[in-house]
Amino acid sequence: MSAPPDPVGYRRGNDLVDAPYLVPEFKSTRLRAPRQPLISLKHTLSEVTGPIFSHRSVSPDEHDLTTRHEANPIGQRIILGGRVLDNDGRPVRNTLVEMWQANSAGRYIHKWDRYQSPLDPNFDGVGRCITDDTGAYQFTTIKPGPYPFGNHYNAWRPAHIHLSVFGPAFVTRLVTQMYFPGDPLLAQDPVFNSVPGSRARERLICRFDLETTVPDWANSYRFDIVLRGRDATPIES
Ligand code: FE
Repeated sequence: MSAPPDPVGYRRGNDLVDAPYLVPEFKSTRLRAPRQPLISLKHTLSEVTGPIFSHRSVSPDEHDLTTRHEANPIGQRIILGGRVLDNDGRPVRNTLVEMWQANSAGRYIHKWDRYQSPLDPNFDGVGRCITDDTGAYQFTTIKPGPYPFGNHYNAWRPAHIHLSVFGPAFVTRLVTQMYFPGDPLLAQDPVFNSVPGSRARERLICRFDLETTVPDWANSYRFDIVLRGRDATPIES
């Protein structure tokens, strides 16, 4: 059997764009940041060859988080769409895009989420889709609410949506967080501000798009995910 492909081309951390492991203002990084230099291990065959997802792997209703339950979820319905692009602006086709988010009151369905805010029986907060031939993805969801977290006194996460782009193998998965324009909580958020450079942080903020807003139905936001290069979207290490 031949050796696994060398994943030199896969994205590793980019110091100019991605948050460092240790950001003292972001309290939990003080415990989880590595204290020793990282050791790169050779990837195994199964890490670089799969899993492979296709349009058959994801059902068509998984991109719409507003129609799975008996009634509409509470909150502002939005369409979130964009394209997944490589460093030359070429579309990344047929890749799995996953998202997860809090409900409109800022609450996740999770046993550790103890925020005194209501759960919504008509909203589970997770979605998946496969990019099309132009690299486009789209979700219909509701705008998430901010939530408090224990980083410092009166700390609040700005409204955000977690996004993952899987790519062709386990080792290519990239995870990021997307924010909304004009959110006053961005200025005090240590997670958003752990990304070095204001231009890189700007690339984590989606853009309101009247063009793709659906009259009498939903506002629309655009968020392109760029995998590498000067315009790369910051990812979480
Ligand atoms: Fe979150």
